[in-house]
Order: sequence, then C-alpha cells, then structure tokens
Amino acid sequence: MTHEEAKRRIDKLKPLIEKYNEEYHVNDAPSVPDSEYDRLKAELIQLEEEYPDLKTDDSPTQRVGGPPLDSFQKVRHAQAMLSLDNAFDEASLRDFDRRVRDGIGDSFSYVAELKIDGLAVSLLYENGRFVRGATRGDGTTGEDITENLKTIHAIPLRLKEPVTIEVRGEAYMPKASFKALNEVREEEGGALFANPRNAAAGSLRQLDPKIAAKRNLSIFVYSVGQFDGTLDSHSETLDYLDTLGFKTNPERQRCETVEEAMAYVQYWSARRADLPYEIDGIVFKVDRLFQQEELGFTAKSPRWAIAYKFPAEEVVTQLHEVELNIGRTGVVTPTAILEPVQVAGTTVQRASLHNEDLIHEKDIRVGDYVIIKKAGDIIPEVVASLPERRTGEEEVFQMPKQCPECDSELIRIEGEVALRCVNPQCPAQLREALIHFVSRNAMNIDGLGEKIIVQLFTHGLIQDVSDLYQLKYDQLIQLERMGEKSTNNLLASIDASKGNSLEKLLFGLGIRFIGAKAARTLAERFHSMDHLRKASKEELLDVDEIGEKMADAIVQYFEQPEVSALLERLEQAGVNMSYTGPIREEAANEESPFYGKTVVLTGKLERFTRGELKDIIEQAGGKVTGSVSKKTDLVIAGEEAGSKRTKAEELGIDIWSEADLSPYI
Ligand code: NAD
Repeated sequence: MTHEEAKRRIDKLKPLIEKYNEEYHVNDAPSVPDSEYDRLKAELIQLEEEYPDLKTDDSPTQRVGGPPLDSFQKVRHAQAMLSLDNAFDEASLRDFDRRVRDGIGDSFSYVAELKIDGLAVSLLYENGRFVRGATRGDGTTGEDITENLKTIHAIPLRLKEPVTIEVRGEAYMPKASFKALNEVREEEGGALFANPRNAAAGSLRQLDPKIAAKRNLSIFVYSVGQFDGTLDSHSETLDYLDTLGFKTNPERQRCETVEEAMAYVQYWSARRADLPYEIDGIVFKVDRLFQQEELGFTAKSPRWAIAYKFPAEEVVTQLHEVELNIGRTGVVTPTAILEPVQVAGTTVQRASLHNEDLIHEKDIRVGDYVIIKKAGDIIPEVVASLPERRTGEEEVFQMPKQCPECDSELIRIEGEVALRCVNPQCPAQLREALIHFVSRNAMNIDGLGEKIIVQLFTHGLIQDVSDLYQLKYDQLIQLERMGEKSTNNLLASIDASKGNSLEKLLFGLGIRFIGAKAARTLAERFHSMDHLRKASKEELLDVDEIGEKMADAIVQYFEQPEVSALLERLEQAGVNMSYTGPIREEAANEESPFYGKTVVLTGKLERFTRGELKDIIEQAGGKVTGSVSKKTDLVIAGEEAGSKRTKAEELGIDIWSEADLSPYI
C-alpha cells in the first residue's frame, strides 16, 4: 500500500469507526457486531503503526469509550478509567505474556477473571457511604448516574468499614432480565436491545431512576481507584472488596503460566452459556501491584492486563449470490453464498435466508455486506444487511417465476410463505426423493451417497426410485468413486432392501405429512400396500393418530396414475409390499444424531406430528422432554417457535429446523 492509499483508507476508516463508537457508547444501539468494529479498528491500528505520521491525536485508536451525554452532570474521574488491550487468539496472549516477562521478569502470577459484558462504572464512597456513581464516559469524564446506580441492590449504600474509597466494576443485566425486557418491548412494539450490555447501559443512562429500578441490574466490582489504604495485590484487593460488602465475581483464579491461562479460557469458553450473565472473554491481570506499577500504562490501557476475547458469533461478510435449493416436496429455499468467513471458530460459506419474504423484509441484496450469526452450533443465518456499505452495484433479489431445475412455474400455496415447484417430474425433487428413499429410516440403502445419486441422474441411469432396482454392476462401476467392492456392496444393499417391511417403503415414498411413525401405524393397520391404497378417507380417519391432513394426503397420493405405475414397477422388481409382523423395537442406533440425547420439540412442525417425531427420536435412543434446561442437547424448532427457542439460544443449545432433520429421517 502506498502512503497515499494508506491515507485514503485511514480517512475512510476513521469516520466509520467514530460512527460505530457513537452508536455503541453514546446511543447504546450498535448497528454492527463487535467483531466488525474490532476488525476495522485493528486495521486502523495496523495502518497507523506502518505510517506513524498519519496517526493523529483525535484518532479513535487514541481514545476510550465515547463522550458523556449532556443530559447528565459530568464527573471528572480522579484517576482515568481506562480500557483493556485485546487478544483474539493464543498467539497474541503469548505476545502479551512475553512483553510482561520482558518488563518484570518471570517471578509473577496472573489473576484470571471473567470479562463481564456490561458497562464500567465508578462508585465513590466517603466514610463508608455511597456518594456518587458514574459511567466511564471517555475515560476522563463520565456521567453522574448515582440515582440510577442506587437502584442496583448489589451496590451497598453503606460499607462494612467507614472507608473513603473509589471502586470500579461492571454493571450488567442478567440474561433472564434481558430476555424478559425484550419480550415486553416486543409486545409493546418498542425497539429491541441488541444485547444485555446495551440494555444495561441504556437502563443506567435513563434520566428517570424508576426505569433503571425495574430493569433488575446487577454488578461485579473488580478494582479500586482512589484509595488511601494499602493493598499489595489484585487478589487481595478483590478479597478486601468482599469484606467491605461488595459483590465480586467468584470464578477468579490464579494462573502462573500461559498454558494455565489458556486452560482457563477454554474452560469458560465451553461453559459461558451456563452462566446467568453474558461474558465476552477473560481478563488477565498481573497480580502484585508493585509489578503493575513497574509495567505502567499506555494512553488507553494498562500494560499489566489483557482481555482475551472469545471468537465472535456474529460477523460481517459479503453476500455473493443467492442459490436456490429445491427440496423433496418442491419447496424452494434460498441460501446465501458468502465470502468465506470465520464465525465462532469455523469457516462459514453458506447461510440460510429462509424465504423470499424475509429477504425483502430485511432488504438483503446480492452484493451486500451482511451480518451472519451463528450461536452455538446453529446453522448460520443472515441477520441483516449493512446498507451504508452499498456501492450501488448491489442487486435486489428476484425470486424466479420458474423452477431453476425444470423450468415449470413456481407456485405459492395459500397460507404458506414458501414457493413450490409442483412438477412431480422435477429432477431436483426426484433427486431429493431418492436421497430420502434410501435414508436410514426409509429403505436404509447403504453406500448411496448424494454424489453417487447425482451421477445416477446425470448418466440417465435413473428416473425414479423404482429404477434403483434395475441397476447393473456394469453401470455402477463406471461411476466416479465406485470401485469393485463398493459396487458389490451397493448392489447387495439394494437387494436387501427389497425385503423391508411395508412401513419403511411407505415412509420412503415421501407422502406428504407421513413420517416414520405414521407409516408404521398405517402398515400395522392395513398390512399391505394394496389395502392401504384402497382405503377411503373415513377408514383412514378411523386410525388413531391419522388426522384430516394426513388422510387427505394419502388419498390424493394414491389417486395419481404415476403412483400406481411406480408401485407396479417396484412390485415387479421384487420389493416387498406387506407388513412383516410386529415391529421389533429396533436397537437404538448409535450413529443417529439423537442417540443418548435429550431433545425438546417446539413450534409448528410440517412433516411430522410432535408424537411422530418423538417416536422416531426415542427409537433412535434419544429422550424427548417438555422443557429446555441445561440438560437439553438439542431443540427442534418449527415455525413460530417461541420462548423455548429463545431459552435454547440463551443456553447455547443446538437448534435445528425441520429441514435439518432430512438427512436423518
Ligand atoms: P473492552 O470491552 O475491550 O474492555 C475493557 C472493559 O472491560 C473495561 O472497561 C470494563 O468495563 C470491562 N470489564 C469486564 N470485566 C472486567 C474485569 N473483570 N476486569 C476489568 N475490566 C473488565 O473495551 P471497551 O473500551 O469497554 O469497549 C470496547 C468494546 O466495545 C469492544 O468489545 C468493541 O467491540 C465494543 N464496541 C462495539 C461497537 C459496535 O459498533 N459494535 C462500537 C464500539 C465499541
């Protein structure tokens, strides 16, 4: 980069960072995830390091926080309230450790603490009485929010000793209070807070203390500012704060080495979801105060402390195109194809866009910079676009009128948001239908992965599932990835599937609304395909667990002439069409994603009833329970899932949509 280019980039970065700073620190309403702010700021720091003459005093890299609001009395801090330097990985933590060792030698230890995601406040006590509380503001001048802070029960109004002391801590909103607050705001149609930090800051910077009082805030104190007494170490300071009656965080731990420090990071990174409050990292501080003094400060932060930040769960990246996938039932799902980006430790290249309405509601355009979210192990989704990053080249997404695979018209069925391709011969649907047909709970044909299935279609070896039973050795061996052994295994597996009991075939046919459990019920009741296809709607409704929707779907399915032809071909190929006796309780399947898992079902499911899905999960060795708790491993959330989904998100539990079930059921 030339000097001129660096200058231009810096001139672009500064106002953008300023704007994000103001949104975050002054308005308590950020428009981008922290990771994006951190990335831009790191870029600016790097440029200023390379071109020191371009570094100015007013650069956002030289400042802490944001200016105090005019609506509050301003408070000048007797001792500046600084920020912390950040480390985003082990290497930068090691760099920090090296700098510390260079400064004070090897004889020291760190105190590790959780980095509470709230806002820093200063609490001033005179002769043991709380007299003034302030925000950090820009580090030098904060806002007097004494009345609001008095509403926090964890802040003692009178200390156990009559000392004069300034104490610092992090005021925060517990996860539960945050959730309740946003629920109320949603009901009232108010703007939602982006996260508990902003909600806490927003509550404490209200002019009316009654509002803060309602918000159930709390605090952990973590350091002492002005104080005449003598304290030797940070750990002693924390213990002393405890004896004065403050609330300090109990999870602190001494670490002697970087290895111990990283182990603490890993421990809490895996457990942060279980904490009742948000943390965004770990803070390491050199323990002994004389060593802290030796190391000193930069303009913005102490040299004896560092904040190790957890990997971001929300990041910004560019959306290159929208890919359309056609499912087995013809539903068209738009998927975002993204510039690959690291989210919560993995590379993400695709994210769900759900449906056309949502794309337009969120005004997501092709070419946009978008916010991607991945909490826990959930499939990533596109949360929002960043219109301020547009260049004018972006294109509004238009859902095609025709199916991208077979060109037939796409139809929106009344009452559904999704568009569907209703051509039963659509190659995409046939392909998906075959993937379903061979899946474990259906015909259970091993060795027929998606890549082979695609080849079977492109080589014209298959038009529908019945052609599977006509495949010959010579045809299969020519396909990519197929050797002698795999071909023979596949043929044996196809052959074995002919003997499956009726319910597996029924489920495999993919009749709408007929899941594995309903297929079993139908097989038990009607015993043969022939009886079932002749059954009237009334007879079907007579069966427990078969409702109106299912009965209609079954009747309509068997009315189609193509279906009769298909069944005939299957029968001629030797596929069993009857029920082969009471179902053995199948041994729990250790490979199933449900094996040994506690699962909660919520929201409206389309393909299954709750009961059916419960049976499938239980058969695979899982347990289905009614409420979400720390013990829950997986939540399957249909449309309009409410509080259970939110709770699962809070606890960082895996959440699957119904579509995520397709590879397994
Ligand atoms: P910081 O959050 O990186 O770290 C310093 C702060 O950590 C302290 O001031 C204190 O409030 C807090 N803290 C929590 N637990 C602590 C403990 N145990 N010991 C000491 N301190 C503890 O720095 P910052 O200057 O407060 O804020 C920068 C943060 O704000 C970054 O995370 C940045 O991403 C975010 N930010 C985001 C945007 C946005 O637009 N999204 C804009 C500006 C800033």
